[in-house]
Order: sequence, then structure tokens, then C-alpha cells
Amino acid sequence: MGYFKFNTDEFKFFERANRIVAETLSLMQKHVKPGVTTYELDKIAEDYIRTQNAEPAFKGYGPKDNPFPATVCTSVDNVIVHGIPNKTPLLEGQIVSLDVGAKYKGFFGDSAITCFVGEVSPEIARQSEVTEQSLFKGLEQAVERKKIYDISRAIQTYVESNGYSLTRELVGHGIGKKLHDDPPVPNFVPLLLHRGDYPNWKLQQGLALSIEPMVHMGKKETSTLDDGWTVVTRDGSIATHWEHTVVIDQGKPIIMTLRN
Ligand code: MG
Ligand code: MG
Repeated sequence: MGYFKFNTDEFKFFERANRIVAETLSLMQKHVKPGVTTYELDKIAEDYIRTQNAEPAFKGYGPKDNPFPATVCTSVDNVIVHGIPNKTPLLEGQIVSLDVGAKYKGFFGDSAITCFVGEVSPEIARQSEVTEQSLFKGLEQAVERKKIYDISRAIQTYVESNGYSLTRELVGHGIGKKLHDDPPVPNFVPLLLHRGDYPNWKLQQGLALSIEPMVHMGKKETSTLDDGWTVVTRDGSIATHWEHTVVIDQGKPIIMTLRN
């Protein structure tokens, strides 16, 4: 099976990496308001991560000729994930998803939240709530003797029964010594034809996963902008994204990125 198994010290480092991520998100969330820029939010995150003797995990990630240029993925409104921070002030009623990764002593943490800029419409608030709840439906399945598709099915059933669609092109992942490790964790049960791409691993104690539903108000199709990173809903509909990193255990999932 071959996934990474932590020893005690390693688990402490992994725990710390994820704690730093959770603290960074809590700190950023306090600063999300109309007029602030995602560039400013990114600086707050980078400063905090570095003062904790950790490194931003996303900065420099990706292809050599087009690495991700910032600490945080900041994805506004119809941007699903991988939005690049910029100097455009956020506006009342917008949403911004903040996705943070940190590396501490060789181990990675990863988590994302969707934040409201001031007050948002009830429709958008509901979508974000359904997305966060779907994440917890998935997390409930992240225990020994279940399989990856149990997580996928729980998320998909909850999201689609509430009238939304899910991104297909991007999925959750194993995590530990690598930011993106095996196995992929799709937010949908793959069609028979595609199951080879998404092995349905049996969940064993100590396996670490980042589970991250990406939910669209409209259709499931996506596009990537010319910057090579920004993924948007093709129909322009609102997208919401929540993510936690969890470790499989007996009986109860251990959520590593819970916030206060
Ligand atoms: Mg993430
Ligand atoms: Mg992730």
C-alpha cells in the first residue's frame, strides 16, 4: 500500500505544521473586510508563518517556468481555487476563499476556509454552509475500515442533494512529507471508466488526508485563466471551498486543522 507512516517525532512536526496553518487562517479571517486587498492578506499570512519558523508551502510550488507566486491562494467569487493575491480591494458582499499551506521541519499542513467580505447574500451564505458541512460529512467517513470512496460519496450526496455541483478537475490528497501525496481524494464517486485514476484505498490508521470540497452554484465545468493558475467556474457562478487535514484513526477522525 505504501503510504507514509509517522513516527512520534514526525507526527509532532506534522501536527505543528497543521496548527500553524489553522492559526494563519484564524488570523487572516479577522482581517477580511471591505477595502482590504488579497495582497495585504497574503503578507499577513507569510509574516505569521515565518515567525513560527515554518515556510509557506505554496510559494514557488508548481512548474519551474510559472511557480505559484504567493503564500496563500485567494479565490474571489467565481474563482474556485488557486487565485493569485492582488492589489484590488475586496468589496462588500464578495466572498474569498483562503487556502494556506505551511511546511514545518519537513512536514506539510494544508487547510482552506471561505470568508465573507462584510455581509453576503443568503444564497451565498447557504452555499458556503453546505460546502463546510459537506467537508464534515466527508471527515466523518475518514476512519479505519472505510474507503476513499466513502468520503467521496458522503460529500457528493450532501452537496448534490442541496442543488449544487462539484469540481471534477481538482481533488483532495494524501499529505505528510509531501504536500500532495497519494491517494487522490475525489469529491465525487468516479465513473467506472475513471476509477483507475482514483484508487479506492482502504483507510488505515495513520494515513493523513487533505479533504477539500469545491462547490459551484451553477454547472460543474471549470476553466483555467491565462496566468496558468486561477481556476474559475466556466459559467461564472459562485464557488466555495473548505478544506481540513485529517489523520485516520480508529473510531474517530483526528482533524489536524481545527480552528478556535
Ligand atoms: Mg489547500
Ligand atoms: Mg489541499
